[in-house]
Amino acid sequence: MTQTSNMPDMHQAEAIPASVRAEVDRLLQTGDLFRYTAAENSPVTLLEQEFAAAMGSKFALAVSSCSAALFLSLKALGLPRDARVLIPGFTFAAVPSAVIHADCIPVLCEVGDNYRIDIADFDRRLDHSIDAVIVSHMRGHTSDMDAILDLCAKRNVPVVEDAAHSLGTTWNGRKIGTLGRVGCFSFQSYKLLNAGEGGILITDDADLVARAVIMSGAYEHNWKKHTGLSEAFEAWQNKLPLYNLRLSNLSAAIIRAQIGEIPRRVMDGRRNHDALASALNQTLWMTVPDALAGESRAPDSIQFNLVDVTDAECKSFITNADRLGVKVQLFGLSKDNARAFWNWEFLPEQVELPQTRRMLMRACDVRLPAKLTLEDVEKVAQALISAASQTFEETRQFGT
Ligand SMILES: *Cc1c(COP(=O)(O)O)cnc(C)c1O
Repeated sequence: MTQTSNMPDMHQAEAIPASVRAEVDRLLQTGDLFRYTAAENSPVTLLEQEFAAAMGSKFALAVSSCSAALFLSLKALGLPRDARVLIPGFTFAAVPSAVIHADCIPVLCEVGDNYRIDIADFDRRLDHSIDAVIVSHMRGHTSDMDAILDLCAKRNVPVVEDAAHSLGTTWNGRKIGTLGRVGCFSFQSYKLLNAGEGGILITDDADLVARAVIMSGAYEHNWKKHTGLSEAFEAWQNKLPLYNLRLSNLSAAIIRAQIGEIPRRVMDGRRNHDALASALNQTLWMTVPDALAGESRAPDSIQFNLVDVTDAECKSFITNADRLGVKVQLFGLSKDNARAFWNWEFLPEQVELPQTRRMLMRACDVRLPAKLTLEDVEKVAQALISAASQTFEETRQFGT
């Protein structure tokens, strides 16, 4: 059996660049941690300017999480209570949760076995009752955004992009998160930029961002520290509730130090993913769905489907992979996975999505951080292939 001790650590985060230390020290010495204390140029404000510039967007608002960004996006769209928001049936529980938090009703659509929104089903469900759409680019997989934007434009339905885990991905050369009315990103530790917690929304819509800024907790005249928006703000002063979802200067400093790392992390992540995908695709049991034509991903994990296998075989594959040092998560197999829609028991009504369920019962997820070398990736490939041949060859040979 392969030694597991020489397997790479797939869960440990990358070190935060040392260049941030002087700034963190300054913040600790001055105690200046609240974004609105300084008269101008607080680290949170600078992060917003730098992130908007990097994405080519007019405005950015940094907040406490991507969930907070999604919630504020729906609130800032001015959706009435019980508005219906169409979301994919394969996403993280944070997405339906943000919809419910915003007093709206999540409506789920089917996802294909390539993890992308089933456009025919999306079109069918995008009827007159739908007031907004959240497209979740799950694990960086991009659905057919041309079709989605087209269908939504025809019905005048605003699109919010959940790009929490898709920073660096492009669709026909355009940055994911800039295609819809609002794009939301996460700075939680498993995402491309790691501050432990945090999020940001980007948009070109001045009025929308003004509402989001006020609701994020820019009370009294703190909105004046968001430049270029005074007309929009004057209209909304005192008209909106304050949810206090701000980001702290300390988190902003930690994120700013990593913005320059984005291109390297994207390139290395893609290299690692593509190397592992081509190894797995050579087996009979594991298949990595192709990217769509317009899509260029920034992956830090890999998803593949087990082909022609039983639930029991899936379970022993996971056990065998674990023994060889690779943690495989099969989305639908555990009782508590937050990405399996049937575990969202908090939804106002339970739904069935047979196609999405079939995918979730065979789709595996393995973390593949950008810091891994190609040698590390080769070890991961060997472990997964050995686990698969142990599991599936044995059971086939002896019958089950
Ligand atoms: C991580 C993630 C979120 C939630 O981000 P938080 O910052 O933890 O709220 C939402 N959607 C997707 C697809 C994610 O991967």
